[in-house]
Amino acid sequence: MHVRDAVKTLEPYRPGKTLEDVRLLGLDSVVKLGSNENPYGPAPEVMEVIRRSEENIRLYPESGAPRLRRALAEFTGHPAEHIITGAGIDELLDLTLRCILEPGDNIVIAFPGFIRYEVAAKLSGGDVRRVPGPPNAPYSHDLTGMLKAIDGRTRAVVVVNPNNPTGSYFPKPEFERFLAQVPQEVLTILDEAYFEFVLDADQANGFDYVNGRKPLLVFRTFSKIHSLAGLRVGYGVGSPEVIAFLDRARLPFSVGVLAQDAAIAALAAPDHVERSRALAHSETQFLGEALRQRGWHTYSTQTNFVFAESPQAGGPIAEGLMRRGFILRPLTNFGMGDRFFRVSHGTREQNETFLAALDAVQRESER
Ligand code: PMP
Repeated sequence: MHVRDAVKTLEPYRPGKTLEDVRLLGLDSVVKLGSNENPYGPAPEVMEVIRRSEENIRLYPESGAPRLRRALAEFTGHPAEHIITGAGIDELLDLTLRCILEPGDNIVIAFPGFIRYEVAAKLSGGDVRRVPGPPNAPYSHDLTGMLKAIDGRTRAVVVVNPNNPTGSYFPKPEFERFLAQVPQEVLTILDEAYFEFVLDADQANGFDYVNGRKPLLVFRTFSKIHSLAGLRVGYGVGSPEVIAFLDRARLPFSVGVLAQDAAIAALAAPDHVERSRALAHSETQFLGEALRQRGWHTYSTQTNFVFAESPQAGGPIAEGLMRRGFILRPLTNFGMGDRFFRVSHGTREQNETFLAALDAVQRESER
């Protein structure tokens, strides 16, 4: 059997630990702070819609999710023809890179960053030009450096704002300066998976730029603030010419019946978004402060997680927490050192029990 070299050299995706992984250790109670999920779960009215739409699951979903796209058109202020939906941003980023990369082409992306872009680019036979943060802020986007990294074979430049896994963030004037300098023939992908968590009034809203001169594609998801990660639904709003080619290449039925209905209902539940944003803000502040008191180095965040560096070797910390039923995300899979972690917030009670467990683990590893 023949397999493409691009596939043979790929590292398989290693997701964060699941509840099941930890239950197998014989624990009844597990708190998952590893995958940036919303501890509130979906809005109650969304759950109600999901239960009602169960009767439709024997049918194929509507191809291209026209009702959801109409709801998104109303929500975003952009026509449905400028919007595409998919099984999470994951599917859409893969679709996009498959549409634009020929072997030998490249994408430019910040490092550390969201690894799926790199995997998708390589699978398309493309190269990845990683741009580390500037020396004075090594975990943020070096937008000037990213512009410099663009060459004649660059087909897309990917900016993630706020960024995963570092939580770094750039405000509107920086984005505008950047976008103005991206060459006309290069697609800018602006990943706003964590957009709704940002409190800064000077936040760029990617939707405001999709009708400009530069080709732009903005991604958002229902996985994070809307808490529908398990249903798999995300969307892209883009310059019309960008959406037109994605629409030709997309799968006919990637967003399921329940996912389409739930996403429409989630758009009609802004109070839940508000509540979730408030919780993310208070709990990431709380966790950040508590980790600093325990000797960790933390970075400012506008997301639902804290990017942090532990004072001791990371392996035993992750291991000790896991034995006590707490899952964090070590960032070695993101190509980072052993002490780097991403800690998603839980409810206050979960965060407090997590910190108590962390105290025990840190004492253990000091011995
Ligand atoms: N982009 C970023 C920056 C993310 O952090 C994530 C989720 N971890 C995704 C995209 C993928 O999200 P989705 O669940 O919509 O596929």
